[in-house]
Amino acid sequence: MPTARLIFWALLVGVFCPALPAAAELEGAPVVSVMGDDGRYGQQVVAMSAAPEQPTSVTGIKNETDELRDAVLDPNTSNTQLYEQASALFGAIPRRDSSRMGSVNLHGWEKPDPATNMDVQGMMTRTKEHMLRSWSEHKVPPKPEILEAYQYGGGLHAAGLMSYDTKGKLTKNQLGAYLYTATSAVGILFNDAFRVLQAWLGDELASATLIHEGAHARDHANGSLNPVEVRKGEVQAFRTEFEWLKTLDPRGEKLAWARTTYCGIGVPNARAKAPGLVCEYLQHLAKIQYHGERNDFDGLVEQLGYADRKENPFQTVSDPPDAAGKSPG
Ligand SMILES: [Zn+2]
Repeated sequence: MPTARLIFWALLVGVFCPALPAAAELEGAPVVSVMGDDGRYGQQVVAMSAAPEQPTSVTGIKNETDELRDAVLDPNTSNTQLYEQASALFGAIPRRDSSRMGSVNLHGWEKPDPATNMDVQGMMTRTKEHMLRSWSEHKVPPKPEILEAYQYGGGLHAAGLMSYDTKGKLTKNQLGAYLYTATSAVGILFNDAFRVLQAWLGDELASATLIHEGAHARDHANGSLNPVEVRKGEVQAFRTEFEWLKTLDPRGEKLAWARTTYCGIGVPNARAKAPGLVCEYLQHLAKIQYHGERNDFDGLVEQLGYADRKENPFQTVSDPPDAAGKSPG
């Protein structure tokens, strides 16, 4: 028999982002595009309470953009004229750190449900409740891949195999892990600090990790989790996690609200109120949302730093020749 060596499927916590909302179309409202710290993952925020002298509007920017484009296309436009027109346009758009940029007003946006008991049982229960709520609201049953991830996670929970990591098996940056041997599931572990995250964000947003790890359990059970092809396994789990995020937060309002409110993302000179782990988690979800909307799960997994293994960790020198055939996948 292969040795009962465990594999940790690590969920690395990374950077951020979401795409936002129809409200940005509001005529006359100053619209500002605010980029995340790494420049790639932007969050659009409508600055509803911008100062009165704010000169920009959607129509104004559009008109000036049209004029600038015409000027660029006109061979008779001098460089000086071009420079002046470009300055008039871009100079009028407030920068993220500009004093003209008003405070962000997210009144009326959907917010994440903050309910939590800061335990695994409550997270399971609320995941189910959110699934049922979405089903009744949208009249569409949960996608089978989500349901199965929940059910396989639930099976491990019912067997007493879902808990917090109190023995330091996970690193600081690992939110959770699905542990397994060549022949069986060992369980799902959440980082011991995961409770802090539940306390700040509630079980609704925390459940994304539950569904992710449950997706690994699902794939292991159906034979599509290969210990060597780590990236493929992560693509499958992130795809399901993204679908779950879309179910919970179809317009990305909850995530954007939480990022802005707790971590000050998109708010000039704001400081994060929440601990680093919480903001990193929100960034991580935003990253899943960003890549998911582009159906770029390979890019997500690449960016998060996952790498395939060079050899099957269940195949050891003392294993019989057919050991690899018994390993998952
Ligand atoms: Zn994973």
